[in-house]
Amino acid sequence: MIIINIIFLAIVVAAAAVEAEAEWEGAQCGSGGVGSMVELIQKKRDGGELSAREMWAVVSGFHNGAIPDYQMAAMLMAMYIRGMTDRETTDMTLSFMRTGEIADLSSLGKTSIDKHSTGGVGDKVSLALAPLVASFGLVVPMMSGRGLGHTGGTLDKLESLPGVGTALTSADFLQQLRQVGVAICGPTESIAPVDKAMYALRDVTGTAASLPLIVASIMSKKLAEGPDALLLDVKTGDGAFLPEWESAHKLAQAMLAAGELASKRMTVVMTDMSQPLGRAVGNWLELREAIDVLSGRGPEDVRELVVVQCALMLVLAGQAPSYLTARQMAEKHLGNGEGLRQLRLLVRAQGGRQEAEAYIASPDTYPASARSLEVRASQAGWVAAIGAREIGAVNVLLGGGRADKDAKIDPKAGIVLARKVGDAVSAGDLLATLYSDVQAPLLQEAADRVLRAYSMSDVPVAAPPLVGHILVNGSAMPWSRFVEQQQPPAS
Ligand code: URA
Repeated sequence: MIIINIIFLAIVVAAAAVEAEAEWEGAQCGSGGVGSMVELIQKKRDGGELSAREMWAVVSGFHNGAIPDYQMAAMLMAMYIRGMTDRETTDMTLSFMRTGEIADLSSLGKTSIDKHSTGGVGDKVSLALAPLVASFGLVVPMMSGRGLGHTGGTLDKLESLPGVGTALTSADFLQQLRQVGVAICGPTESIAPVDKAMYALRDVTGTAASLPLIVASIMSKKLAEGPDALLLDVKTGDGAFLPEWESAHKLAQAMLAAGELASKRMTVVMTDMSQPLGRAVGNWLELREAIDVLSGRGPEDVRELVVVQCALMLVLAGQAPSYLTARQMAEKHLGNGEGLRQLRLLVRAQGGRQEAEAYIASPDTYPASARSLEVRASQAGWVAAIGAREIGAVNVLLGGGRADKDAKIDPKAGIVLARKVGDAVSAGDLLATLYSDVQAPLLQEAADRVLRAYSMSDVPVAAPPLVGHILVNGSAMPWSRFVEQQQPPAS
């Protein structure tokens, strides 16, 4: 009976999807029962809810040039001020996605799963996580971004290996997933193409910070990759895109709602970005740390986040019966080099030359920066905070990040933190080392800024929890409670 009900439900869902598709097709502003763009702007301005057809008419009209920037700008402002319902946000996400291709991974015959992080300083988790998850036979179609402002980008970090390219065509992307099981690349031209122009318009109209617009922008690209399931890591704290916990929580809830309404299996965690993740900030330095983790070493916080996220993905993809079993599986592939082997295959498939493989095998042989400078503690105490945003900004100053989107970056540049929040420090102890090719006075200015980014306390300080929350039924549950619930009952 249960099976008959499930089959019936699947048929109803599929029929609804086909009907929705037919509904959307051909909808244009000012025809077929959809109001003109002016009427739709007025509707949104006055607090109305746009239908799926109306949303598609707006998004596709802007994409094909029928709707000019000034009208789209007015609509974006109405959306920003009035907000959007979960349904509207999902319709906008799907409309963005339908301006391009949706990758069809079904021919690969395997479960596909991806992860998206809202980004931060020192967040190199994807570089270790994607190959690690693929080492369990899952397909990981990871389309990622570049660094801008204080946050780094996964693509820049991967490209610090000579020859590695991240601009794949849709055909190359699919081919690599078939052969290697994992790709880390930029969005292909056909992935939600309207987002580029929409993002540029948001940027110059004061509407970039709208939560539903952020959700549509991020989720449309992730859904267009065609994964069966998706893990989201929403960062909170000083170095995060949305530092306040409440805003990050709302973003997490809205992305979950949009993904689930689009029938994706999703897990969302909220993790700490109040201090940089790991020890290294800077492109090669971060990739090196990811290689260390895949070699069974690496800083404890990066390793733990990789294990947690890999375990959640294995459960979400149906590869493990429980979180605890999945953790053991992840630990095993960090210890036996399976994850590292998969990274090597990825690097080779994406053009990495022999040198690239040599740097993975012996990271110490990577070219060194022209200069380095140590930052030492001026007083004793305990590290109370490390301004993550400021450390990210200093990395840009050293050449490791982009001040504007066309700036060239130096893959060698960056900062290695010797002390993290909670560590005890004596006066004169090493706090951090800076690496860069910039001239000595600029390097000194950077070192002064790093010293000021450290706040010290006279009393011991506890490090903030690495994983704060997991969303369960749309609400944030403390991670510690979730982990407790995973323990087998005492006999
Ligand atoms: N990342 C995106 O891709 N889009 C946004 O709007 C914000 C972050």
